[in-house]
Amino acid sequence: MSEAVVGFREQIKYLESRGWLRRVKREVSPVFEISALAKKLENGPALLFENVKDSTMPLVVNTDFSRECIAACLGVNPFELTEKFKKALECPVPPIKVSDGPIREVIKKGGFDLTKDLPVPVHYEKDAGPYITSGLVIVEVPQRGIRNVSYHRLQVAGPNELRLLIQPRHLYQIFREAEAEGRPLDVAVVIGSDTALRLAGATWGSKVPLGMDELAIAGGLRGVPYHITKCDSVDIWVPSDAEIVLEGKILPGKREKEGPFAEFTGCYGETWMNPVMEVVAMMHRREPIYQDLLTFSPEHHLLLSIPYEPVVLETVRSYVPGVRAVNITPGGCGKFHVVVSLEKQHEGDAKDAILATFCSVRDIKLVIVVDEDINPFDMRDVEWAVATRFQADRDLVIIEGAKGNELDPSCPELALTAKLGLDATKTLSRRERYQKASIPGLKELRVQDYLDL
Ligand code: MN
Repeated sequence: MSEAVVGFREQIKYLESRGWLRRVKREVSPVFEISALAKKLENGPALLFENVKDSTMPLVVNTDFSRECIAACLGVNPFELTEKFKKALECPVPPIKVSDGPIREVIKKGGFDLTKDLPVPVHYEKDAGPYITSGLVIVEVPQRGIRNVSYHRLQVAGPNELRLLIQPRHLYQIFREAEAEGRPLDVAVVIGSDTALRLAGATWGSKVPLGMDELAIAGGLRGVPYHITKCDSVDIWVPSDAEIVLEGKILPGKREKEGPFAEFTGCYGETWMNPVMEVVAMMHRREPIYQDLLTFSPEHHLLLSIPYEPVVLETVRSYVPGVRAVNITPGGCGKFHVVVSLEKQHEGDAKDAILATFCSVRDIKLVIVVDEDINPFDMRDVEWAVATRFQADRDLVIIEGAKGNELDPSCPELALTAKLGLDATKTLSRRERYQKASIPGLKELRVQDYLDL
């Protein structure tokens, strides 16, 4: 195992050194042009736009474009990612408080304008406007020793106004408590994060309860603690090497129209009345780099799926011992579809694995269970297993009327979904009938010994 890449700037250098980041020198518009090129190149490389129209800040997007790239930035191979994440959850490394850092190089307590000072793109045709998509929202509840870091879509609605969608998870709980007391909630939005912090900020589910510090999970992931420094105008600590930090308050009792916005599903999330953050100060490095995330891209889906693969794996494995790996697939929007790799010991194992997977994370609506000789990350191989090992009358599980995800457009009513399980494993009593045909010597043969390539 090699070392993880530590820090956002280091990561940009690392990606560039491996040919995984390209610079775009010509002027680009933040309205659709950045997102269009990022979409064309969504499978990599990362893009550093040096000349964004009407802005002095460069913009980087797609820094975590593939499983290979994410694994390399964490110093592991792709098959070790789930285990790596599990260890970080078990052995978090808390951040270290420092008095200063590059983030404090420029501090603006007024006279800023979010609509002009940041190169925030408009990504999709019907988006309500520019959205900060790669901002990590940090809040603290010092009396209870709680820090929370989470992603939220942030609509830039005015010179000092952001509107945000807060789904009913940790930030929601903390905000609703403050709101019940009529208090504004101090908050910081951090832009410019390395892979470890981005993944930690995207965690959720039963293995990451409220009170577990995502900055410590991120420290565990990269093996080096984050240095954090205090914000200028609010009581929040932020990574001292962040690029940009927006400081402010989520206002109690205030809701404004937010959305529509193209979500991880590739469809537009509706316009809702959502909370409002008033930005009171902005800190940034000298010559900061703005980090963007294109929604509904491999990067987006990987940031969604990788953090909850260990949650699914642990839960399913606690019921069914032969579970080897899980893949939360990109085609399933990084959330809805799971392939479980299983070394079946009992004929009922696959069905139990389906049920346990549904219990692990409630958003999941399709589970395909495959044997150990199928690569769960290769969807062609998975489909082959369905084609040759699955019979619908015998191997299909349907559960009607369960809880799904609020943003799934196919639900007949909000988040009401049916769940589907496919047991694509071999019947134990007839294993030889299913044997994969093989060619002796195939693995060892080197094509370049026969052909100039
Ligand atoms: Mn949390």
